[in-house]
Amino acid sequence: MSKKGRVFIVSGPSGCGKSTVLKEVFKNYKNYHFSVSATTRAPRPGERDGVEYFFISEAKFDEMVEKGEFLEHARYAHCSYGTPRGPVEAKLLEGVDVFMDIEIQGARAVKAAMPEAVSIFIAPPSLQELEKRLRGRATDSEEMIRLRLETARVELDEATHYDYLVINDNYLRAAGEILEIIHSA
Ligand code: ADP
Ligand code: 5GP
Repeated sequence: MSKKGRVFIVSGPSGCGKSTVLKEVFKNYKNYHFSVSATTRAPRPGERDGVEYFFISEAKFDEMVEKGEFLEHARYAHCSYGTPRGPVEAKLLEGVDVFMDIEIQGARAVKAAMPEAVSIFIAPPSLQELEKRLRGRATDSEEMIRLRLETARVELDEATHYDYLVINDNYLRAAGEILEIIHSA
């Protein structure tokens, strides 16, 4: 039987730099599929449907939940987010590693269903720096930023439950650490 792909769960507070670090990782590691989630939140400027997320209505989201089309799903900052099951299963069978950028409830669900999944928590160097990055990104409303900072405190408490903790002080260094994890896992 050919080798199955591995699942890498990546979590961390919104704005800590997950997308930035993963983008760097994918420049140097090609056997990957990035799991594009569905969300009911509005697209940020520059976000494209089907690339960063599938942007869908609450009704469509509920329909997908009913049909069992999500591997996991969760509420976050008044919006719904879910990992479509089909592409994940297909890529794993092809022997491709699947990376999912999901929050802590989803990470727990995936780890329960797939204990062999490798979980990585990316943390900002401090909450002050997180706020600076969220504001510097300039993509979210004040309300969105406030909700993300409140949630960050709870998320950081969960970090010890992950297989690996990576501090994103410098994104190139953090990406290097994740590449080491990929090659050693
Ligand atoms: P996330 O995907 O976790 O929500 P992003 O990758 O969008 O976060 O990063 C949030 C902001 O922080 C972006 O403006 C990004 O350029 C910046 N950023 C990411 N990593 C670093 C870093 N190591 N040092 C300084 N700024 C960073
Ligand atoms: P953002 O709105 O900032 O893009 O993402 C908010 C949070 O939702 C982040 O912590 C991100 O990891 C998480 N997230 C994105 N997609 C999913 C998903 O499919 N499932 C879960 N559980 N969380 C997700």
